[in-house]
Formats: sequence, C-alpha cells, structure tokens
Amino acid sequence: MMKTKALDAQYIAHTYARFPIEIVGGHGAVVVDDEGKEYIDLGTGIAVNVFGMCDEAWIAAVEAQLHKFQHTSNLYYSAPCAQLAQMLCERTGLKRVFFGNSGAEANECAIKAARKYAMEKKGPEYSTILTLENSFHGRTLTTLAATGQAHYHELYQPLTPGFVHARANDLDSVKALLSENKVAGVLIEAVQGEGGVVPLDKDFAQGLAELCKKEDILLMCDEVQIGNGRSGALYGYMKLGIEPDVVTTAKAIGGGLPLGACMLGEKVQDVFTPGDHGSTFGGNPLACAGAISILSRIDDQLLAEVEEKSKYIFETLGRSEGVKGVSGMGLMIGIQTVKPAGEIVAYCRDHGVLVLTAKDKVRLLPPLNIPMEQLQKAVAVIQEACKA
Ligand SMILES: *Cc1c(COP(=O)(O)O)cnc(C)c1O
Repeated sequence: MMKTKALDAQYIAHTYARFPIEIVGGHGAVVVDDEGKEYIDLGTGIAVNVFGMCDEAWIAAVEAQLHKFQHTSNLYYSAPCAQLAQMLCERTGLKRVFFGNSGAEANECAIKAARKYAMEKKGPEYSTILTLENSFHGRTLTTLAATGQAHYHELYQPLTPGFVHARANDLDSVKALLSENKVAGVLIEAVQGEGGVVPLDKDFAQGLAELCKKEDILLMCDEVQIGNGRSGALYGYMKLGIEPDVVTTAKAIGGGLPLGACMLGEKVQDVFTPGDHGSTFGGNPLACAGAISILSRIDDQLLAEVEEKSKYIFETLGRSEGVKGVSGMGLMIGIQTVKPAGEIVAYCRDHGVLVLTAKDKVRLLPPLNIPMEQLQKAVAVIQEACKA
C-alpha cells in the first residue's frame, strides 16, 4: 500500500502546501503523527478544535445523535438545529439563524441578506458590499470578491461584481466609498486573521457602526475565525462595543464537523422567505448536536481562562528576544519575529510544537482549554525559536 504522503501527492489536487507531517491522532492539545511523535498543537486545525482533539463531551454529543438520525434534509423539522439556533440567538441578541456548512457559505448568506434587504428597502441599485483591505472572507467567487487582497483575485476573473474595499481603521476611507457607491452592507472582521492577526480599533469600529446605523446600511461581522470564545468574549464584536445586524461564524462552532451559521438581527430577521436560500447539509443534526456541546461550554469561566492565557502569551512573548511585536485578541495571536516566520514554524515543529503563519507573522490559535503547563512548554519553544 502506498504511504499517505505519496497517495496525496499523486491523487489530491495541489492546492495546499502541506507541512511534512501526517496526523494520526491526539488528545486535548496534543496531536500525534504517523511516527508516534507528539506535538503541542497551537493551530487547532485553523481555529476549529476549540477543545482540542478527541474532546469527550463533543464526541458523546455527536455519537448520541449519530444513533438517532444523521440527516433529514431541510424539508423536515429536527431538534438539534432548532436548539442550536435558540442558543445562538439568546446569547447574541440576534433573532434568527441560517445554517450552512462553512465560513464562506455563512458569508454568502450575509451578502444575500444585505442585498435583498437593501433592494426591498432602497432599490436594486443598492447592491454594493463594503469590506476592508487585507480582509479574508472565503474562497467562493463571491467571498473572494469580498476578500480585500488582490493576490487572491488575479486567477479567477471575473469575480462577482459589487464589492469595494476601504482601509481598515480609516473612517475617511469608508466615508469616501459610502458616498461614491450605493452600499447595502459592510462586512468586517473584529480581528483580521489571514490578514496578519490585526485587530480593528475600537474607535473605528464604533464610528463605522454609527455610520451604518445613520444610513441604514447593514453592519455585518465575520466571526468565522475570532468567534466562539477565541477573543475572550463569545464573539469578537462584543469586545469592540458594537451591535452588528448580521454575524457569521463557522470553524470552531462545529468543533470539527462542517458547520456555518449566519445570524440575522432584528432588521433582517424576516428578509428571507421560503425558497430564497437553502442548503442540503446546512443545519446537519450531527454538526448541530456537537455544536450545542461546544457552545454550552464556552461560558464565563472559560472566557476568563482565555483572557488569562492571552495575557500570559502577550507578556511573555512581548519581551522575548527576536520578537518585534505581538498582536491580536484573546487566543488569536500574531507574532512579528526578526527571523522569517517560516523558520520559526519549522523550528517549533522539530521541537514538538505546531504553529501557523499569517502573512509574515507567526500565528497562534491554541485550544481554548489548553492546560497552562502545556502552554508554557510551547511558549518556551517559541521563545527559543525566535532567538537569533
Ligand atoms: C476561514 C475563514 C473564512 C472561510 O471559512 P471556510 O470555512 O474555509 O469557508 C471566512 N472568514 C474568515 C475570517 C476566516 O478566517
């Protein structure tokens, strides 16, 4: 039998530059490769495995559902998705949820909601969606158009029209685009993840929210990466003191199963009517049963732990040799290093720690419940890696 790496090289489309590791298992914050080597995982499958590998409560919740029914289609009622929607609405104040299977789909839904809302309220010419430079919103042709990074656009022209990109933390740039375009909605990340772990200024976010409110433009937050406890609040926007009309999330909410959610606030709660939008797998009972388990454990105690670990990382790495700066929010952290980020990643991997990159930074997305002892061990390895 061919080894996995050879099979992958021969049969998988070459869209990924994989790290030279095959993961075969793990427990909590530790993952194990095919040679039995253990790593402390500060990447969590890109902010997905919030409670690490083989999280027992999540497994039990998914398994219990698996023995009841695995799928119904959206032609029938099913309890897990209804109950998950209730939890999300009660904890955010938003009113209704559309479930899909990924972050990109959640954002597609938000864009559709904004366009339909604006079309009905102001007219079909109000179709433009404003996003920020350096943002990331997904890989479909429409969410790529939303993504404010030109290098993602080049290969796939023409993208969906109707997107403009303002400079982050520059309200004048937003104002100029709002006056030149007929804008339906604004889509932002509280912390730009793929863009290099750059948090939005609170003043900017609040100014933007005010502008949106005044002009009846929908304020939409992409919480796919920073959401679900990673910021130290349930959602990152809560830290910015704004109240979005639409919130999208995915990644961590599914705990490892594909799940995306687009939460609709008061203004847009009734924007969709039957037949307007849909998804075969969206709200899948297994994914939703697991998500209920995940969400119910993102409580005040866990969020306080996130803040404490965040503070530890910021303080420790902030004064480490070879570190130029630390950015981010909660347990979504970017480290600007003197050495190239790729070298840090490779050193850490050789020494049993998995970290990611974002632009030219090293990016950390540890499990939210990582034991302090393991975190300290991993941070010590990063410190070694950063030294000249
Ligand atoms: C990962 C990510 C997406 C895309 O999510 P997929 O599940 O890969 O479609 C969208 N927005 C942000 C902020 C992300 O980090």
